[in-house]
Amino acid sequence: MRRGSVALRRIKADLHVHSCLSPCADLDMSPREIMKTARRRGVDLIGLCDHNSAENIPAAKKAGEQAGVMVLGGMEVASSEEAHFLAFFDDDDELRVFQEYVYQHLAGKNDPQAFGLQVVTDEEDGVTGFCDRLLIGATTLPAEQIVAKVRAARHESLVIAAHVDRESFSIIGQLGFIPPSLALDAVEISSRITAADAKARFFDCRNYPIITGSDAHSPDDIGRSVMWFTVEDGTAGEIKKALAGRDSRKAEF
Ligand SMILES: [Zn+2]
Ligand SMILES: [Zn+2]
Repeated sequence: MRRGSVALRRIKADLHVHSCLSPCADLDMSPREIMKTARRRGVDLIGLCDHNSAENIPAAKKAGEQAGVMVLGGMEVASSEEAHFLAFFDDDDELRVFQEYVYQHLAGKNDPQAFGLQVVTDEEDGVTGFCDRLLIGATTLPAEQIVAKVRAARHESLVIAAHVDRESFSIIGQLGFIPPSLALDAVEISSRITAADAKARFFDCRNYPIITGSDAHSPDDIGRSVMWFTVEDGTAGEIKKALAGRDSRKAEF
């Protein structure tokens, strides 16, 4: 490569994966297991987003490094409208600050018998603790506030309306539309629908870039629904450029 030029490559990404920290995810979804499975399936980038928490991101990043998988650190936040949003941050400190903000607006304690264990691990599958917050619950944060908070990050970040084609826990399912003022970077559709169908069925999807992800809660589902990005690396900044088609970056299904 010439000096000053940037090496772009095409990477396979699953931007919606849960770990064993999510009460509804399999216990064998340890960060290490996720990265090993991703590597086996040729997935280059994992977006790790547990419900309302980012406590397994440090382990996921280390496990990803060991397995040769890039990790975008974030979480899947439930708004007061009970709509899910994927929030990713390039800066680990900003992700931690965002997690505290979410925790401050999330009431209740988990009942492991009813909802499942919320396991925090290290990169070697060692259990380092259990999160006792009610991660399955919704925050008291309106969608507008979540989006504004993520976008206010000083480093690059991404905020994406999750699985908008689903009737439950999606902004369209809950409100019937996407408020035009919501400054989303993208909308995510589930694997059950194509981007063309999404645009035909949900008019608001025409206003945003569309992505997909597996929403994996078990190892089997990792990489089931992926995107291809032509980028320099798997950061939020690069993904954002790819979604906008800027600087030769590309996002493809
Ligand atoms: Zn969700
Ligand atoms: Zn999810």
